[in-house]
Amino acid sequence: MSFTDLGLSADLVRTVAQQGYDSPTPIQTKAIPCVLSGQDLMAAAQTGTGKTAAFTLPLLQRLASSPIKTAPRSVRCLILTPTRELAAQVQDSVRQYSQGLSIGSAVVFGGVGMQPQVQNLRRGVDILVATPGRLLDHVRQGTVDLSRVEILVLDEADRMLDMGFIHDIRKVLAELPKQRQTLLFSATFSDDIRRLADGLLHKPQRVEV
Ligand code: AMP
Repeated sequence: MSFTDLGLSADLVRTVAQQGYDSPTPIQTKAIPCVLSGQDLMAAAQTGTGKTAAFTLPLLQRLASSPIKTAPRSVRCLILTPTRELAAQVQDSVRQYSQGLSIGSAVVFGGVGMQPQVQNLRRGVDILVATPGRLLDHVRQGTVDLSRVEILVLDEADRMLDMGFIHDIRKVLAELPKQRQTLLFSATFSDDIRRLADGLLHKPQRVEV
């Protein structure tokens, strides 16, 4: 199985070749066609399995294939992560994989000043990577508009629940359009994760590796 067989565009196949990826990992083989089709996804995958590319590559393709020309740009894809380290790492991957596409991204997390983040956001971003608490700070002060999000990704959802982010996540969800694609990644499927997924995902494809 090659990245082309999975349905990735020539641009993105070139990108993964530049990254030195010879073939898709198991989570990529299962998740990429599902995300490209627009379906919701519930995936069990640990760090190190290539899960970041498994959601980022196909979502980039979906965004790039339906460009929005209206200004100002607002967030079309929101990626929630539990920690600032993971947020920074995911944004790094998003930036690398989106080279050559006209798709902008930014990251916001707590523990640092708001102002530099506000300035990045003002430029207009298509993809926002965020930790829940700081994202809500931006929503409250009107520096992030989530009303036009088309794709939501919850990365390491089990860790977000363990860290007590469920209330923040629910507040974020209330800001999002009901009509959207939702992708949930978690190392484990506990009862809490299943409950969250039940209210969040619409007929998801389930994938385990
Ligand atoms: P992740 O599970 O997303 O944290 O990714 C773990 C590492 O695997 C990262 O350093 C990626 O650059 C790398 N990676 C992702 N996909 C592939 C692939 N298809 N082939 C080789 N390495 C990959």
